[in-house]
Amino acid sequence: PSQAEIQRMLEAARTKYESVTEGKNADYIPALAKVDSKLFGIAVVLANGEVVETGDTNAPFAIESISKVFALSRLIEDKGAADVEKAIGVNATGQPFNSVLAVELNQMNKEHPAGNPLVNAGAITTVALVPARSGAERWDRIKKTMDAFAGRQLSVDEEVYKSETATNTHNRGIAYLLQSYEVIKGDPSEALDIYTRECSVSVTARDLAMMGATLANGGTNPVTHQRIVSPDTASHVLAMMMTGGLYETTGTWVYRVGVPAKSGVGGGILAVVPGKYAIAAFSPPLDKAGNSVRAQRAIESIVQDTSGSLFAAR
Ligand code: GLN
Repeated sequence: PSQAEIQRMLEAARTKYESVTEGKNADYIPALAKVDSKLFGIAVVLANGEVVETGDTNAPFAIESISKVFALSRLIEDKGAADVEKAIGVNATGQPFNSVLAVELNQMNKEHPAGNPLVNAGAITTVALVPARSGAERWDRIKKTMDAFAGRQLSVDEEVYKSETATNTHNRGIAYLLQSYEVIKGDPSEALDIYTRECSVSVTARDLAMMGATLANGGTNPVTHQRIVSPDTASHVLAMMMTGGLYETTGTWVYRVGVPAKSGVGGGILAVVPGKYAIAAFSPPLDKAGNSVRAQRAIESIVQDTSGSLFAAR
């Protein structure tokens, strides 16, 4: 479809779904509960860098779990896909993103306690494994990777960071549990702090779509032309998004939409059609699994309109 056709699709989806009132903002992180629930933006960035957008695409919001995609990109690029598979695991847990039960079941069944890099346990482990001489350098490497994907310097929302740090006792439990199983060998509180920081990075729907377009384009940012990760890394990251990007409802998502995606409790969802485009939608109210209600619907309709499902015969 042409840019004008995509523009019409985005506007139609926004008009259709802006009145949906299901779901509610994440409230276990107090700063997220206060975000305007009416915000709704949809952005597409084509693999050649062209941008199409509608609604609140310049409204900043916390990237939250979508950051896991970019930390994973860093780690696969540094260590290789096979090492990451061995050290963290890559199978869906079928459990909520912060499940302790998943850690315990995997440990009991002699599988990877961390689950996979897109649930909290695996994402905290990802951070701990990023090669660096210090925590400061580790954070810097993850943050610079996120910036390079976006093609601009992103900032940390300090209010979200403080709010999440003050309330993340459950994640703290997960980090120390992983230390007890010798999955995290360094300081669990340092890995947790860096994880909390990466989740507090502020992005717009447009930024997210640009970050996704870098994956759609094989790891090279289509606007800055900087190669951030290799095509091999990008394809492994997308495969992981396909099987675990929306937690325990990933199966439903893939069945309905047929493309890899990643959600965050800030209300963002990023979906990628490899080689073609990325689409990001932002709207704070979430379903029970922690996935934005309006963002899921908008992305589903646009992927259908563009025949984007990876399972469509071509
Ligand atoms: N920082 C959030 C947490 O750890 C991210 C969760 C999410 O977006 N699903 O709980």
